[in-house]
Amino acid sequence: MSLIGRLRTNDDALRKRATAVIPGGMYGHQHTALLPPGFPQFFERADGCRIWDVDGNEYVDLLCSFGPIVAGHRHPKVEEAAAAQLARGDCQNGPSPVMVELAELLVERIAHADWAMFAKNGTDATTMCVTIARAATGRRKVLVARGAYHGAAPWCSPRRDGTTLEDRAHLIKYRYNDLASVEEAADRAGDDLAAVLVSPFRHDAGFDQELPDPGFARGVRQLCDRTGAALILDEVRTGFRLNHGGSWEWLGVEPDLAAWSKALANGYPIAAVTGTDSLREAATRPFVTGSFWFSAVPMAAAVANLDVLRDEDGVARMERAGARLRQGLADQASTYGLSINQTGPVQMPYLSFAADEDHERGSVFSVTALEHGAYLHPGHNWFLCTAHGDEDIDRVLTATDAAFAQVRRQFGDG
Ligand SMILES: *Cc1c(COP(=O)(O)O)cnc(C)c1O
Repeated sequence: MSLIGRLRTNDDALRKRATAVIPGGMYGHQHTALLPPGFPQFFERADGCRIWDVDGNEYVDLLCSFGPIVAGHRHPKVEEAAAAQLARGDCQNGPSPVMVELAELLVERIAHADWAMFAKNGTDATTMCVTIARAATGRRKVLVARGAYHGAAPWCSPRRDGTTLEDRAHLIKYRYNDLASVEEAADRAGDDLAAVLVSPFRHDAGFDQELPDPGFARGVRQLCDRTGAALILDEVRTGFRLNHGGSWEWLGVEPDLAAWSKALANGYPIAAVTGTDSLREAATRPFVTGSFWFSAVPMAAAVANLDVLRDEDGVARMERAGARLRQGLADQASTYGLSINQTGPVQMPYLSFAADEDHERGSVFSVTALEHGAYLHPGHNWFLCTAHGDEDIDRVLTATDAAFAQVRRQFGDG
């Protein structure tokens, strides 16, 4: 099924209208300026692991809305729970009982969690973690890994425009998986160290991914214990894809605070902070809130989604699909004599070509895959969901076979 030469009529018309009324035509991570030319900007609908753009082109979705979709688009059980809650009410003068149910569920599933609080976006959750850590310690400095993404607020935005130096005055950088650099950064913070913020694995955009070195994770935990700083795990991207609980539980390392969002409610807008008893009192002090933070529909969707993931053994399903994809891609690259790197957990894969600093090969690869019906990103990790079956992965592999062939034609075997 080749889509080469497919129409972009509706997408082009919408882009034109958008440019008149939306600055730059679009913004943020969904701006197609971050993608090679050829990707659609607007989408019409989604179902399972398939998506349709506004010109009716169908793709197997390997980006899953940049992470939120984990049980497949419009999973019937999640949609049913959301619709039932919507029929009763969503945004009210106080939360619905489902808020308590969801908090109980997170406390039950996530090893370190003694309590939970809710918000809308991942940035809300990472910001709230930092705020609670500062409230608890009365200190200011926060250690963050160089190049790591923790959201789009002024204190953590990857772009400087519109921010001040003061917004980041109390951040100190370390290198992921380099414990000595964390120790050095902690020395610089001295007795002003509030928190160490860390991702469960290194998933910086545009780079090969790195799994955590167990010694690094344990060392960061020990450093926090020694200094009284809070260990904050940013689970916004990883949460509920790698594990049904916390992503560092297999390492025996538990954070004091964790930020969650993306996959929590299978596409419904909600974020969560989980924490330990030692920070319970501190968490009551900062004024953290939002008009939509207590909405009941996303909470009902989250409860249903967590149940679906457990009942369907979601993590194992994603691992199975991811392993099939990784093996298929490796076989194809070797057939075409192309040197690639596949990094990260199989359910959050990233593929890059050797000696491809400007992502030229990656761009040709992703555009060709798109033309053949697989939506994947050249500069951002991909996401598997539980709706990816063998047949869907095989369809992706048909597209990537054409994509590898095109890379080989354009760049040779270098
Ligand atoms: C997406 C992301 C965030 C920010 O979440 P938003 O919902 O976009 O605000 C924070 N941390 C990580 C690791 C993320 O991937």
